[in-house]
Amino acid sequence: MNGHGRTAIRKVHQDVHQRPFLVIWESTRACQLVCQHCRADSQNEPHPLQLSTEEGKRLLDDIASFGVPSPMVVISGGDPFEREDLTELIAYGKQAGLSMALAPSVTPKATRERFAAAAAAGAKAVSISLDGATAPPHDGFRGIEGVYDATLPVCRDIIDLGMRLQINTTVTAGNVGELPELLRQVIDLDAFLWSVFLLVPTGRGEALQALPPEEVEDVLHWLVDVSNYLAVKTTEAPHFRRVILQRRRAGEVDAATSFGLGDTYRRLRAALDDLLAERDLPTRVPRPPLDINAGRGFVFIDHIGNVHPSGFLPVPGGSLRERSLPEIYREAPLFRELRDVSLLGGRCGRCEYRNVCGGSRSRAYAVTGDHLAEEPYCAYEPRGGPMLDAAGAPV
Ligand code: SF4
Repeated sequence: MNGHGRTAIRKVHQDVHQRPFLVIWESTRACQLVCQHCRADSQNEPHPLQLSTEEGKRLLDDIASFGVPSPMVVISGGDPFEREDLTELIAYGKQAGLSMALAPSVTPKATRERFAAAAAAGAKAVSISLDGATAPPHDGFRGIEGVYDATLPVCRDIIDLGMRLQINTTVTAGNVGELPELLRQVIDLDAFLWSVFLLVPTGRGEALQALPPEEVEDVLHWLVDVSNYLAVKTTEAPHFRRVILQRRRAGEVDAATSFGLGDTYRRLRAALDDLLAERDLPTRVPRPPLDINAGRGFVFIDHIGNVHPSGFLPVPGGSLRERSLPEIYREAPLFRELRDVSLLGGRCGRCEYRNVCGGSRSRAYAVTGDHLAEEPYCAYEPRGGPMLDAAGAPV
């Protein structure tokens, strides 16, 4: 069973209609890597209209103006180490009362000195990508040899410098079989959180093969199992929350049989059992996933100041060069629509779990062109019951 004695899904304290829980700022699109799944279609040079240092500081002031509890801020890219003012911006955000984190690329710019400067300026956490358990698949994904070998010492530096390490993994049809080995790596690296991202076919990721819905279901159920040993979160897979609630309601059952799961789940589960037989991994109370979604507790600012509900939903609600972030977040029709589950289409619109899931709005847009359409990579067939809340009770 999942989540003994603890809410299966964590509601954020703030009113998500008024303020986000998490703000991701794509501070630049410049990056020396050419990752196959890159949402940003990153470039070697920064865009001439990229937000300046002063505009970046105004953005951080805007974020702080949402009030307490302040949103968490992740400075991402491209590669944020491409910005010479990165340390100054982290320090400014910290001074404004914000919790600052970083999502850099592993390039020669990711030196221990620069991480130390980020930590000294106030960065609390760093996320690093690991998409293959060995060098060939990881480097193949990133388009450059040697990145895998450079990634492991970078991870150790981050922990050594007192910051929390999050490992990000993009799951595609090409690397799903490597998930158990990746899990071993994440455990060995002592990461505080494994963030598993289900590919959205947008940017350069359009060329990659996403998992079919039935296999997505297998992976999500496996992640429920894994969360008994390691803190796990999903990105662009809000149906993980539906799976957690289903498992919680089902109690101690054989998931493969009870939920009609496929070979991918059985293989992943067998590999997890091997790992458990080999190592004495302590069980933990699973970390409940946060109930946030694109534009509902979550907002993304692109490199030129456009405000999006998600980094994978390339439709802006407005520009920081014309309106403030709180104004756009609270009032833009796009954001208001995304917070209204009654507008969801297809299966999501009649799903009992729409209140705590709602599907990936980015994937709906990428596949259908409609951000309110049903999540195309969810295998669940709604039963027509009442809408459920985060505790699995009828609303
Ligand atoms: S049908 Fe939509 S709302 Fe329901 S679980 Fe699937 S993605 Fe979530």
